[in-house]
Amino acid sequence: MKLYVSGLYSGGNPQPGIGIVRSLREGFPEASIVGVEYSNRVSGIHWEELDELWIQRPWDELDLDAYGERVREKLDAGGLWISGSDLEALWLADLFPDGHPNLLAPSMPALDRITKPAVEAASGLPVRIPTYTSTDRSDWDLHAFCRQHNWRVWLKGPYYDAARTPSWDVFEAARNALTKVWSTERLFLQAHVSGYEESVMLSAYRGELLGAVSMRKRDITPEGKTWAGDVSDVPADFLDPLRQMVKALNWTGGGELEMVRDAAGQLWLLEMNPRFPAWVHGATLAGQNLPALLVERASGMRAMPSPCRAEEFTRVVLEVPVRAEYPLPPLPEPFAGAVGHSMKHPSGLTLLAKKLHKANPELLGGSEPDGEAGDRLPQIPETFLADIRSYDFDTVQTPQFLFMDSTAASLFQRAAERSHRLSTNDVTVASGYSIKTNPDARLIKLALDNGFHAEAISLLEVHKALEVGFRPDQVILNGPGKWWPEGIMPREKLHAVFCDSIADLDRVVAAVAAGEMQSAHIGIRIRTPNIPSRFGIPLDSPANLARLVDAVKRLPPESAFGIHFHMASANVGVAQWWHLFESMLKWCQAIERLTGRTVEILDMGGGWFPDDWHASEDGKFATAVEKVRAMLPGVREIVSEPGKAMAQPSMALAMRVLEIQEHEEEEVEAVVDASIAELPMYFFYPHRMLHQNARTGELQPIGRGKTHLMGRLCMEHDIVAANVRLPEGTRAGDLLIFCDAGGYDRSMSYVFGRG
Ligand SMILES: *Cc1c(COP(=O)(O)O)cnc(C)c1O
Repeated sequence: MKLYVSGLYSGGNPQPGIGIVRSLREGFPEASIVGVEYSNRVSGIHWEELDELWIQRPWDELDLDAYGERVREKLDAGGLWISGSDLEALWLADLFPDGHPNLLAPSMPALDRITKPAVEAASGLPVRIPTYTSTDRSDWDLHAFCRQHNWRVWLKGPYYDAARTPSWDVFEAARNALTKVWSTERLFLQAHVSGYEESVMLSAYRGELLGAVSMRKRDITPEGKTWAGDVSDVPADFLDPLRQMVKALNWTGGGELEMVRDAAGQLWLLEMNPRFPAWVHGATLAGQNLPALLVERASGMRAMPSPCRAEEFTRVVLEVPVRAEYPLPPLPEPFAGAVGHSMKHPSGLTLLAKKLHKANPELLGGSEPDGEAGDRLPQIPETFLADIRSYDFDTVQTPQFLFMDSTAASLFQRAAERSHRLSTNDVTVASGYSIKTNPDARLIKLALDNGFHAEAISLLEVHKALEVGFRPDQVILNGPGKWWPEGIMPREKLHAVFCDSIADLDRVVAAVAAGEMQSAHIGIRIRTPNIPSRFGIPLDSPANLARLVDAVKRLPPESAFGIHFHMASANVGVAQWWHLFESMLKWCQAIERLTGRTVEILDMGGGWFPDDWHASEDGKFATAVEKVRAMLPGVREIVSEPGKAMAQPSMALAMRVLEIQEHEEEEVEAVVDASIAELPMYFFYPHRMLHQNARTGELQPIGRGKTHLMGRLCMEHDIVAANVRLPEGTRAGDLLIFCDAGGYDRSMSYVFGRG
């Protein structure tokens, strides 16, 4: 009996080959086992239980047709083949469309039906699929997905690799890396599920389930790979539908369902692999030798039984002698420029991915980056287009911020209408415009006209609000620097002052006592427990809480008391923000009870991404107001402090193309007259972009592609957009417009490179 086993890589993120070999050796001590590899740098080739090695040229040098013929000869001669690599299995399925009795791997139709993330074949199993979205969607939509899922998301390729992307710049970098390394655009973003990881391994031959076993990871490597685990039988409510699934797929070979079990006991399916897992021998040690079952069924030869030695297994690191025929290379070759990804697979799988993609783009799935871009185009609101069209660009010196008149007006109006709808006789719902986000007088005036308060973090901002027309009793003063600059605190009564620290509180108390300031409400900002923040008064330890309570008791009784908290949902995620909100209400109740002071104003801060704050229905906000009324019946006013939710859409940045550079392989780069000095938020969130046709004046959304827009600054990192696709025929002098630039892009832009 001759058994071919591939996938011998045996590092920290191992392939299953060595485990398969060990299990087969136990079941068939007399068999001749041949290790198949595509690199002599894979340490598993030195494993002593291998009788022979069949080492190929690396995938990129290999003549796939000729190699395929030789594989066929081996199978025809009676050799049995167990693949330890997903991509090799894919290639073999393509090579043998009608299967081969000695190829112990699944067919192409079966592989098609287990493709991530949907894993269509698993629909009968008691598992759910974590929420996901295709990266074919526009950047604007992908950013929204990340916010909705608290930035606890994974970017995954269809076959290998997953990267956590906790922020937009990490997402962009990971998308570039995965697309390049695995030669596919077909990536997806999936919400993280917290829980314990477990797997089901199976072995099947022509649709007959030969065996299955459950394994819970009990210890993992830093990459999340199994280091130790426990093995048990698959329960009947999983096993029965699994048997049906295997039958429906007419599955042959090993397989693994990787899952997470959440706190409620629900199983979530992350992926199904078309091969045995690397921990396969751990199950053999528990008496369940699945590779041997497979070979037994395919060959008709009885396997030696595998006794159960323990139901738990662990890994160790072993040194083995290097085979004389394959000495170590003189020195490991430095992998030019590679970080992580390529080194993880020295077996050359990334090379195979490239090759398969070239031979047959369909095989790895996914459209070409520059193919169907239709659904990657962001939706541009009508008011944006109308506002932009109102400019006569012949007279606009670029780069130039464009104030979006009707957009800004409608944002403030909608906010005012919602406040009005949510307010009742005894509780007012109000907004305070955060001046620092964009201190443009036009925005402050819109805030005034729409019944907003003015929210200031310095006395200069207070005076700016007063100049535009706010009365002192419409001003909310906040932040750690509220006394700066010295000596210009208004003497009139302010609407609310929130103390950022106990020192700040004592200063406010002293100033009120000395008649240097007054405010209708004086309260505290509390520091969010669990989410790190440098702001507010901490309450996460008994001692801190005691200090806070003592301090609140010192506040002047003539002013109403209030509590403020602020945590940017744009950063921590929308779901997490609402969770925090509920926990804050409980803290407010505790503070009321301990201090004897009633919370009369509750200020929930800002930090909302525009689309989240302006979410079309009132549902969430209405429920929030109800909760406040129920839990804090003394509250008379609920304030939020939107900054970027109002300002960000209210300005765009117009720029012109200075130069188009055409490079190899149709790559185009463009230099523009704007720079990161005008778009400092470029790394934090995507901007919707438009191109104006120089001839017709028509505005056209810009989709995703391979072009970089390079800023005018002579600085390596001055790239204002990577991965865009300029319309055909874009020339120097054409106008580009970056929307969504009216928040911190505008206020934090700086003068640079202008002589
Ligand atoms: C900055 C700030 C805001 C506004 O934040 P955005 O992210 O612009 O919405 C609101 N309140 C306070 C106290 C702030 O410092």
